[in-house]
Amino acid sequence: MSVAGLVCSLCGERFPVSAQYVCTECFGPLEVAYDWEAVRQRLTSEPFPCHTSSLWRYRALLPVNEIPPNDLGAGFTPLHPAERLAKEIGLEELWIKNDTVNPSYSFKDRVVALAVATAQQMGIPVVACASTGNLASALAAHAARAGLPAYLFVPADLEPEKILGAAVYGPHIIGVKGTYDDVNRLCIQIADRYGWGFVNINLRPFYAEGSKTLAFETVEQLGWDLPDHVVVPAAGGSLATKIAKGFQELLDLGLVFGERPRVSIAQAAGCAPIVRAWEAGLDHVEPVRPQTIARSLAIGNPADGVLALKTIRETGGAAAAVTDEEIIEGIRLLARTEGIFAETAGGVTVAALRKLVAQGHIRPDERTVLYITGNGYKTVSALEGQASAPPVVEPRLADFERWYATHSSAQAVELRPAGFPAASQGGVHPCPE
Ligand SMILES: *Cc1c(COP(=O)(O)O)cnc(C)c1O
Ligand SMILES: [Zn+2]
Repeated sequence: MSVAGLVCSLCGERFPVSAQYVCTECFGPLEVAYDWEAVRQRLTSEPFPCHTSSLWRYRALLPVNEIPPNDLGAGFTPLHPAERLAKEIGLEELWIKNDTVNPSYSFKDRVVALAVATAQQMGIPVVACASTGNLASALAAHAARAGLPAYLFVPADLEPEKILGAAVYGPHIIGVKGTYDDVNRLCIQIADRYGWGFVNINLRPFYAEGSKTLAFETVEQLGWDLPDHVVVPAAGGSLATKIAKGFQELLDLGLVFGERPRVSIAQAAGCAPIVRAWEAGLDHVEPVRPQTIARSLAIGNPADGVLALKTIRETGGAAAAVTDEEIIEGIRLLARTEGIFAETAGGVTVAALRKLVAQGHIRPDERTVLYITGNGYKTVSALEGQASAPPVVEPRLADFERWYATHSSAQAVELRPAGFPAASQGGVHPCPE
């Protein structure tokens, strides 16, 4: 394996591989350190296997030896050109990385895949997490598949559909009175005392590596080329930080050439501690109390907030926060223009993209990638009241025709018996028998 140990992402202090996650010198977050010579050798002897259409395709750049048994196959999701959305927003080239189609319908399957593989490698018998919802269902799914007991700690007032989406896999779910940040504090205590494998706490250095695969896939799907600018939703700030790290690793390894992509982040106005710190030019993040429909991004005290700020500044990105109304508009705009139904976090990302373009932070000629990280069926209640009940007709042709004739807004196509070319298209004939 090409892992050399753990390293503090703030002061650079090194530690051996273990379920440790904070630096004992400066309390900074730890990350996986690689032996890059070993990585290079591994890439020469086993280049990215093109028959592996999951994130394990990039295992040479991940802290694992081989694909874990009973894997769920997260990752390698589609990258779609988004011409209609680009036009509405005023961009020349826009791509959507559609991570709504992962096994449990959010990008969290990527990080959990790494964390559960690590728990199995370390022989940790119990996995757990503090979650705003998506992590809970991803961990419940992966633990079920791996046959590990899972304990999920969530805010007691979490949306019922998110509880259900995790409960179906049969984990232990504990509702905790308070916000995500209260849940997280309790979980840190449990992790410290009992040594359970909390995927986003003591396994976090390994967990976080899963997010890099979004950068690797994007580059490969662009034909081994880099985007100019990416827009990433931020909760704890790990995803944005690790996408930037993924691009940098491909550059360092000489697998791609060009400018480092600019990383901009998107948050909901009701929970935007990273955006506010960026706007105020701060080096630290002031915690906030979340109040937004984008529950999957509602982390008021982001664990990787400082690193996310650093990522924005070092790559020349920007940050934008959007209101709940703008989030709903964003969800509808993406669905209407590109046929992708995203959860509230996706609405945040689309609305923030629009704002960043309008404010000139993203230039129209920048090749931009938008990361859509969660599926709309997870947060259908956010759209309540957004669609009126459809009209009802009798099951008779004449009834349908009467409805069609009296609703001008429905007349997208002219009603004409099939099989005959339109009069105005005189040169066109039906296909011969
Ligand atoms: C967790 C999550 C994010 C952001 O993740 P962080 O790494 O905590 O910033 C983005 N989108 C969705 C849908 C998520 O569930
Ligand atoms: Zn340190």
